[in-house]
Amino acid sequence: MTHTTYLGFPRIGRRRELKRALENYWRDGNATALLDTARELRQRHWQLASAWAQTVAVNDFSLYDHVLDTAVLFDAVPDRYRPLLRDDPLAGYFAMARGNRELHALEMTKWFDTNYHYLVPELHAGQRFRLTVNKPLNEWLEARALGLDARPVLLGPVSFLRLSKTVDGSDALNLLDALLPVYAELLKQLAQAGVPWIQLDEPCLVQDLDAATRHAYVAAYNTLAIGPSPKRLLATYFGGLGDNLELAAKLPVDGLHVDLVRAPEQLDDVLFALPEHCVLSAGIVDGRNIWRSDPRRVLPLLEKIAASRGTERLWLAPSCSLLHVPFDAAQETSLPAPLRSWLAFAQQKLEELRLYAGALDDDDRAKEALVEQGFVLAARKHAPGVHRSEVQARVHALSPQATHRRSNLLHRRRVQADTLQLPPLPTTTIGSFPQTDALRQARADHRAGRIDNAAYETVLREEIERVIRFQERIGLDVLVHGEPERNDMVEYFGEQLDGFAFTRGGWVQSYGSRCVKPPIIWGDISRPQPMTVRWSRYAQSLTDKPVKGMLTGPVTVLQWSFVRDDVSREQVCLQLALALRDEVCDLENADIRVIQIDEPALREGLPIRHAEHAAYLDWAVRCFRIAAGGIRDATQIHTHMCYAEFNDIIEAVAALDADVISIESSRSRMELLQAFEDFRYPGSIGPGVYDIHSPRVPSQAEMTDLLERALTVLEPGQLWVNPDCGLKTRGWKETEPALVAMVNAAQAVRAAL
Ligand code: GLN
Ligand code: ZN
Repeated sequence: MTHTTYLGFPRIGRRRELKRALENYWRDGNATALLDTARELRQRHWQLASAWAQTVAVNDFSLYDHVLDTAVLFDAVPDRYRPLLRDDPLAGYFAMARGNRELHALEMTKWFDTNYHYLVPELHAGQRFRLTVNKPLNEWLEARALGLDARPVLLGPVSFLRLSKTVDGSDALNLLDALLPVYAELLKQLAQAGVPWIQLDEPCLVQDLDAATRHAYVAAYNTLAIGPSPKRLLATYFGGLGDNLELAAKLPVDGLHVDLVRAPEQLDDVLFALPEHCVLSAGIVDGRNIWRSDPRRVLPLLEKIAASRGTERLWLAPSCSLLHVPFDAAQETSLPAPLRSWLAFAQQKLEELRLYAGALDDDDRAKEALVEQGFVLAARKHAPGVHRSEVQARVHALSPQATHRRSNLLHRRRVQADTLQLPPLPTTTIGSFPQTDALRQARADHRAGRIDNAAYETVLREEIERVIRFQERIGLDVLVHGEPERNDMVEYFGEQLDGFAFTRGGWVQSYGSRCVKPPIIWGDISRPQPMTVRWSRYAQSLTDKPVKGMLTGPVTVLQWSFVRDDVSREQVCLQLALALRDEVCDLENADIRVIQIDEPALREGLPIRHAEHAAYLDWAVRCFRIAAGGIRDATQIHTHMCYAEFNDIIEAVAALDADVISIESSRSRMELLQAFEDFRYPGSIGPGVYDIHSPRVPSQAEMTDLLERALTVLEPGQLWVNPDCGLKTRGWKETEPALVAMVNAAQAVRAAL
């Protein structure tokens, strides 16, 4: 029987049980309850997956993040957390993840080009490693006790170091020699316990690698091959191995996992390069998207593999961990039937693997099911709403002028200074204010029909008024309405656009307990009517200060949706850009003088390989400019970015031609400003002065310090003062003192100018 397996499963649970358990623990500190839920989830997921996969993954589960787990496993823990970690390991772990009253959290950044965030281990030269609690082994024992065949998953040593940062500017790869003995010790313990296979994830192998990293791969895997060890599956995903194939295929491992969804073209080369004794784990169903796989695409790949090396040392798997897709499409009974028939979530993906394995094993029922699946997917092309000529015609007719504001940035800056009359170092926020329990309750009541539209509107209007008054009271300069009407910054827009669909339970982990429910873009996109105008107009009617209109940019909507796989991403993004352009013009016509178009996901859309960057940035920037390009010079366009380092795409960020850019930077202590300075950026920048991912209230002094630091690089006329990101995940308790301190910090620095 052809073997089926997977690299990782969604850990959050079918009903986001882990989220609830985490949040309860953070409230009441009941560790037993949290750990019980975690164990139940692991076991339930293994049982479920084992219906289709002969080998289940273990140690793919994490209470917060698997990179953090790896750091803790090898004791790569900064000293500041050690006392707490020793006294209360769970509290110490979560302090690293989220900070607490005294401690900053670790930096958080995007996991490759996904919307998952990992915590960046903080290392330093001379770092020592040590094996702590052997979580991979413990979870393996847990699975074995249930009678399951299991394979621990572990981030491989080279990717671990490459994904870490050092606090002293040293090269993390220099730590390889110190780290390897600890990996070897782990492998030994696993081998002694009888673990047959371990999966070492090395997603960095699909990146462009320098000589030092390639060398590190050889050194690392040669070392790990010496001592006792389970068989090693080297897992690569999120793209093709490309010029690293030869390197990967020569490493002394027992199996190689390759992504044949993003890079089906690598199959021939893989078949040629992979030693015969090695297992080929073929990633054939898409772990990054929710569409059913097309047997007309997959079966030829499988036939080629079977013809070339037989099926004995072949494993079928999704392309990457299923962490990036929701749990179960069968729950989505309210979606239109045709759309539903095109979908596969984690569970369905494992079912698909079984069918492909069946087809390889000559099982007629599996073959028939796949033929049927091919028909279902073929019908997609002609389904109403998928292709709409009027939408496509408008994209086609776009002129080059559509991507340009009327005048250049410097001219606009003068015009806007006259009309807006803001002080130097103007203060603002990124848009959302705390989503209180009362607001969430009102939204749920409204959805469920327990309160009517009018009652819901009243709740929202009262909240907007409260937020406006609060901002006036503490002296912010550019106000926001607080986004109380939005469940989510992408879903809110998608719900009002044609071409989108929404799941009920399609949650995907973003970081820690935070999940997102990406909309599904399945058809051509248009905007039937204005989406945000009445809220912005209402908020502006309450105050003389400018209120920022608040939109999610085209690239971010694209990036945080599950996008149709039957037209290019660029085409979908252009359709979005035109819909948003209409909204921007409507806001301007409603006398909104400042409009923010958030593009937090611009960086994460960047292809993994450098050779593909320019093409992506070109259309992504063009789409933003189309969205912002239809208005007068006096209307000020802001954009906002977070969750990543933007230094390497600073030219593209500048090319957005936004009047003001607010950007996350407090966790990295304003490192990014250097890039803007080197670039001599003419626009205005609001480098975030405090981290909103942590409940910690920053002091006025530390923000003054950050602002003074920023002023060594930016002119006072260029510097804005704002938090790192929106405040929706925070409570009022910490938001109020934090913003008061921020405004005071701005005023103090202003006074000293
Ligand atoms: N305007 C959004 C907010 O304030 C931006 C969120 C984000 O950047 N992720 O919530
Ligand atoms: Zn943000």
